Amino acid sequence: MAQYRVAVNKEVCIGCGVCYSTCPEVFESDDDGKSQVISKFRSSLTQNMSEGFIDDSVVQCAESARDTCPVQAITVEKKG
Ligand code: SF4
Repeated sequence: MAQYRVAVNKEVCIGCGVCYSTCPEVFESDDDGKSQVISKFRSSLTQNMSEGFIDDSVVQCAESARDTCPVQAITVEKKG
């Protein structure tokens, strides 16, 4: 099963909420209303809340969120 890296650029995110409405399986709101990756997909090594690693089961929804983000703050890239 393919793996994908998903990331939110918080410098760019305006906290509109579209991504976590579109794809709550991968994204959620942080305390400021900006997007972050839900905990189960985050790396326990980096503790980076803006980055996660997902598989095919949720990549379509993550890509929908990326494509509907009004400021292109989300990246989804295939690993390996
Ligand atoms: S859709 Fe884009 S701008 Fe809106 S909360 Fe998500 S990452 Fe931020």
